[in-house]
Amino acid sequence: MRIGRTLPPAASPLTFRDLMSGMRALFAGSIELERRHQDLRTYFGTKHCFLVSSGKAALTLILRALRELHPDRDQVLIPAFACYSIPSAITRAGLQVQLCDIDLTTLDFDYDQLENKLANPRLLCVLPIHLFGLPADIDRLKQLRRDPAVYIVEDAAQAMGGEWQGKKLGTQGELGFFSLGRGKALTAVAGGIIITDDDSLAGSLARHTAALPECSPGTIVKQVVSALALMLLLRPGLFWLPKAMPFLRLGETHYDPNFPMHRFSTFQAGLLAGMEEKIGRLRRTRREHIRFWLKNFSNSIVEKKTAMTNKTVHQDPPDLLRFPVHMPSCQVVDQLLAASEQAGLGLARTYPDAIHGIVQLNGQFAGQEFPNARRATQELVTVPVHGFLTVRDRTQLLHLYAQQPKEAQPTCTTSNG
Ligand SMILES: *Cc1c(COP(=O)(O)O)cnc(C)c1O
Repeated sequence: MRIGRTLPPAASPLTFRDLMSGMRALFAGSIELERRHQDLRTYFGTKHCFLVSSGKAALTLILRALRELHPDRDQVLIPAFACYSIPSAITRAGLQVQLCDIDLTTLDFDYDQLENKLANPRLLCVLPIHLFGLPADIDRLKQLRRDPAVYIVEDAAQAMGGEWQGKKLGTQGELGFFSLGRGKALTAVAGGIIITDDDSLAGSLARHTAALPECSPGTIVKQVVSALALMLLLRPGLFWLPKAMPFLRLGETHYDPNFPMHRFSTFQAGLLAGMEEKIGRLRRTRREHIRFWLKNFSNSIVEKKTAMTNKTVHQDPPDLLRFPVHMPSCQVVDQLLAASEQAGLGLARTYPDAIHGIVQLNGQFAGQEFPNARRATQELVTVPVHGFLTVRDRTQLLHLYAQQPKEAQPTCTTSNG
C-alpha cells in the first residue's frame, strides 16, 4: 500500500462551488431539475431528455421501453469487451446478452462478425460503445443494419461532450445514454442521462421514469457526503487514502443486476449547474495531455482508429477519458502496473475479463469464444489524462514505460482466472 501522492486513473472533479450550488438546489426544488433537463436538451440538440439514478438505470429503462414496442424481441447485442454495468442492466430488464468480438486495433466491433449477428429476428437492439471516449463507427453500423426494427442504442457513458465529425457522441443512434458517475467526463456523484428524438419512445420513457421512486432522504444525505468526499479525496495528495480502504472497492467492476433505481435528486441537478462551461474546461485540460500521449506512445489505438478517416489526429484528437495503450503481453502489463502502483502514477487495467468470462453469466456463452475481447482485458492499460496530472507525472510515466520490454514475452494464459 502506498501512502503519499497517488493519481486516480480518471477524475472529474467537484468543486466547492458545485457543492454550494447543489445545496441551494436542494432548497430550490424541482425548478432546478427542470432547468437541467432544458440545459441538456439544448446542449445535445435533442427533443427529449431524462435524468435518472445511474447509467445502468438509464439503459434498463431504455430496454424496457424498447421491449414494449417489440415484445417478440428479447436479445441485446453488445461488444464482448465492455463495462459489466451493461450486462447487469440487460439482465435487470429481463433480456438476453448477445456478444460480438472486437477489433483490437480500434476497440470497436469486429464489423465482419457483426454483420451476421445483426441478422437475428430476436434482436431488439445493438449497443455500440464509445469506450474511453473513442468514437464507435455508427455510420458503418447503420450500413450493416438491414432490419430497421433493430434499434441502435449508443453507450456514451464515457463520452459525454465528445464529438465525431461534427456530431455529438450519443446523438447518432435512435437513443443515447450517458453516465454521471464518479470518474466519467462529468459527475453528479452518480446519475444517468437518456436522450432521444423519437416521440413514441420518449412517451414510454416518461412513463417509466415517472414510475421510479423519489430519492429517499437517506440517499440524498449519502449524495452530499459523497460529493464532499469527491471534492476532497480525489486530489492526488489524498487519493491514496480512499484507495487504501478495501471496502470502498474503488476502480472495481462488478456484475450485479440488483442495483438501485430511482429518480435524480435536486441536489444532483444543482451539482450540474453550469455544465456546458465545465465540460468545455475539463475537455481542454484533457486534450493537452491526450496530444502529449499521442506524441509519445507509438503503439496507439487512438492513432490507428482516426487514421481510418484520414483525419490528422494530432490536430483534432478525440476527447478521451483515459488514454488506452496496447502492451505487447500481459507480463509487461503486470510489471508496468506494479511499478505504477509503487509510484502512484494512475495506470490502470480496463476490465477484469471479457463479458463471456463473467462467472454469473456462465453457461450463456458456452462454446463461444471472443479472443480479441479477452486479449484487450489482458493487454491494455490506460494512462491518465485528467487535470491532476502534472508535467512531472508525465515524465515519470514515460520513464516507466521506456523501461519495459517492447517485444512480446511468453504468452498469457487464456483466462484471467
Ligand atoms: C460507467 C459505464 C456505464 C454505467 O454507468 P453507471 O452510471 O456507472 O451505472 C455503462 N457503460 C459504460 C461503457 C460505462 O463506462
